[in-house]
Amino acid sequence: MAVRGSRHEMFPDERGRFGVFGGRFVPEGLMAALLDLEDAYHLACADPGFVTEYRELLRDRVGRPTLLHQVRRFGELLGVPGVRVYLKREDMAHTGAHKINNAIGQALLARRMGKKRIVAETGAGQHGVAVATVSAMLGLTCVIYMGTEDMRRQASNVLRMKLLGAEVRPVDIGSRRLKEAITESVRDWVASVDTTYYLFGTAAGPAPYPRIVRDFQTVIGAETRDQIARLEGRLPDYVLACVGGGSNAIGVFHPFADDPRVRLIGVEAAGLGVDTGEHAATLCMGSPGEIDGSYSYLLQDEDGQIARTHSIAAGLDYPGVGPELSHLKDSGRVTYRAATDAVALRGMQALSHTEGILAALESAHALGHLMEMADRGEIPEGSLIVLCLSGRGDKDLTVAAERLGVA
Ligand SMILES: *Cc1c(COP(=O)(O)O)cnc(C)c1O
Repeated sequence: MAVRGSRHEMFPDERGRFGVFGGRFVPEGLMAALLDLEDAYHLACADPGFVTEYRELLRDRVGRPTLLHQVRRFGELLGVPGVRVYLKREDMAHTGAHKINNAIGQALLARRMGKKRIVAETGAGQHGVAVATVSAMLGLTCVIYMGTEDMRRQASNVLRMKLLGAEVRPVDIGSRRLKEAITESVRDWVASVDTTYYLFGTAAGPAPYPRIVRDFQTVIGAETRDQIARLEGRLPDYVLACVGGGSNAIGVFHPFADDPRVRLIGVEAAGLGVDTGEHAATLCMGSPGEIDGSYSYLLQDEDGQIARTHSIAAGLDYPGVGPELSHLKDSGRVTYRAATDAVALRGMQALSHTEGILAALESAHALGHLMEMADRGEIPEGSLIVLCLSGRGDKDLTVAAERLGVA
């Protein structure tokens, strides 16, 4: 939608592939629904009325463009002479994270397709809150599936969804997290596809979701490009983002993909450490396979089963990742690193003490990793750095306060 004409735009191809990754590995019953969705999406993109309404809602109801500003005191903390760090403030978007950019776009698509009921999965609860919000805004019925372990960790977001009029359905199987919530959402969708739209929350899953979610999140990177050009008169040397399923990362990276001098760094969750087995560093430690309807990197155990994951950030705690980010790993365009729970907590604390901004634990992985890069002398003097602050930390108060010893 936003970046026609760039070389990168040729992905996905007509089979929904990004290089060898992506595709539609789904049962027959789902195939027709996905092809319908793809057709509806292409028609919507060609309709100026649809695009205008999407842009107006981002402006009036989300508060876009979000701020891009320098964080001088945090930058000084890095101890690298002349370094300048800017934050892209997705935490300032209505509902407190980037998820709403995608939720609004897809909810408009649902309405256009005549679907009055929305189902969605949620992990940290930010996607569920965004979907509940836009459902209320557009008068759609909303059902959110959430693992009971995530409901425990993100209790405040469960209350927010309920207050917004959504039904939250607990998922008490397997690891009781995002993976199982996705399974239950798909099951609901298959059984009610005539009336129901499945509003997927990240740039993963079967085609056409990775493309749709990426297009709606590309607003982050498109704004960043304009804003940094105005503020600094040049492109950044580094763009950093945390990677769960990959939607905030691909959203901010995509408009820079054809500028090889801009180094793109995706930061995954190393949990207790990548060698402990308790992590969610899919691109750093995983291997390609089939997960949630798509061929992409994933974490498997010795028996070839999808591995159990761990991260202090519920939004990063997923054993898969989007196919476009997998393709950008193999092409070498994006570098992936992993930050432990402890590194993320350090990043969260540093930003709140130096700048008065309480970051989400997900975003804190990118902050903490940037501090580690500086510690290791990996950042050249005078570097210009943009970091996508994907969300705010209100949902993480209990966990962070406990771990940082202020509770
Ligand atoms: C959901 C979430 C993430 C991870 O999801 P992506 O699709 O990888 O962006 C990161 N940060 C926040 C604040 C989130 O809510």
